[in-house]
Amino acid sequence: MAVKKKEEDLKDVKHFIFDLDGTVWHWNRLIPGVKQTIRRLEAKGKNIYFLTNNSILTRKEFAEKLSDLGLKTEVDNVLCTSYATAQVFADRNIDEAYVIGEKGLLDELGREHITKSEDADHVIVGVDRNFSYWKMAKAAEAIRYGAKLWTTAYGENFRAGDRMLPGTGAILESVKRAAETEEAELVGKPSDHMVKIIKDEFPIFRERTALIGDHIHTDVVTGNKMGIKTGLVLGGTSKKEDLRDIENIEKPNFVFKDFKRILKKV
Ligand SMILES: [Mg+2]
Repeated sequence: MAVKKKEEDLKDVKHFIFDLDGTVWHWNRLIPGVKQTIRRLEAKGKNIYFLTNNSILTRKEFAEKLSDLGLKTEVDNVLCTSYATAQVFADRNIDEAYVIGEKGLLDELGREHITKSEDADHVIVGVDRNFSYWKMAKAAEAIRYGAKLWTTAYGENFRAGDRMLPGTGAILESVKRAAETEEAELVGKPSDHMVKIIKDEFPIFRERTALIGDHIHTDVVTGNKMGIKTGLVLGGTSKKEDLRDIENIEKPNFVFKDFKRILKKV
């Protein structure tokens, strides 16, 4: 006799981790439905966390930006790649790096006493809206002299309001081409570095935590690596067609047509 498979839900999930770009916001504005949905989740006693491969701001500044947009957030409830890079470098006793990135990345590195230097043994690439030919040249030169190349993320672009802006991945590719290298070590999702930091700083429990984002290869893979529940929100980077012919590690437990649909599963 056929047994009807019980439909999965998120009722037991207490901790929700949301990606930011393309899931919660388009950088300078929240995506419609997000604020109401998060308020409803909080009213049901759920804890909300944010996780981004964006490195433009510090962890504290991301919390402030979310609060300014109407999602009151504490610094401990946000993880970003500026912070993650500083932790990864500090753990390896790296005290100097050539940095392509904005103030947020420099400030997080500075908190760990990591200084910017043009002849460092490490080059880190993050989003940099003042990226230039000479920054590319300096990074490539350092790599040619043996510096190790790191990147905060691979994302080609991100939406800011109505515009698509080049992401870390676009800057990274130009540096790689200029330095004639294929190698760059990833700090952000879905790297093991980021997985470790998330496990260290957020409550990660198999049945009690869910990671929800708009990108199969960053958000879904990260959550699956940790063994927690994963959700893909359509309308951002990954499309419905991208779910065809994927590996198990890329399969989300849930696919939501939009952010509001999350409420139907809690
Ligand atoms: Mg995203």
